[in-house]
Amino acid sequence: MLNPTEINREVQQVLRGFTQMAAGRVSSLPVVIQFYQRMEVAMAPYTGGLACNSGCSYCCHYHVYVTAPEAFALAEYTRTRMSELDRKAVVARMAGNIEITKELTVAEHININVRCAFLSDSGTCLAYEVRPGACRRHHAVDVAPCQVTFHDPSSTMQISKRADLTSMAEAFMRAAYAAQHQLKVDDARYELTGAVYEAMTNKASLKRWRDGKNSFPSVKDRDLRRS
Ligand code: SF4
Repeated sequence: MLNPTEINREVQQVLRGFTQMAAGRVSSLPVVIQFYQRMEVAMAPYTGGLACNSGCSYCCHYHVYVTAPEAFALAEYTRTRMSELDRKAVVARMAGNIEITKELTVAEHININVRCAFLSDSGTCLAYEVRPGACRRHHAVDVAPCQVTFHDPSSTMQISKRADLTSMAEAFMRAAYAAQHQLKVDDARYELTGAVYEAMTNKASLKRWRDGKNSFPSVKDRDLRRS
């Protein structure tokens, strides 16, 4: 686990990146990628014994929350780093997912499976380098509960996880929320698809984040629990 000094150092590092971003001196993508790289290094010692592997994508049908900087980074990655073919497929799936879920309440949305727009037909993540912290935190030491909850989203079966890996990932995510809070930008979390789609289509969303307003007004699934 990170000790208080290490947590504070991470908060300061994220804060520096977000400050640059808010001032318009750097875009979201390099800031968020550097954050994920530090997170990955810290999590690496705790990844033994996991059942997760490339091509396994049960959890890529679950409901995912992202922070606004993560949504901006995913939008930028989709715009600038994907092939035209992948970008078109991702944007079409985003629009389709928004259509499928638009009449649902937040609770109903959380309790159904929807294929993530970034999930390729071969079961890999098309935005793997910038997959959100929620995806990085999610892991399993046994695939069976993943299969059960995939086939029955109302199942309350718990996914078996490594507590040390979860704690490390959550320490980084809390540092990112703390940095946003200190900077007085919008530190809410949003449903992934709606947030990324609006980040790509609403030029005002970055300014709204910077001003501490709701970054993505079209996304009804905005949550202030920050966990
Ligand atoms: S962003 Fe990538 S890892 Fe996360 S749910 Fe979507 S496809 Fe899966």
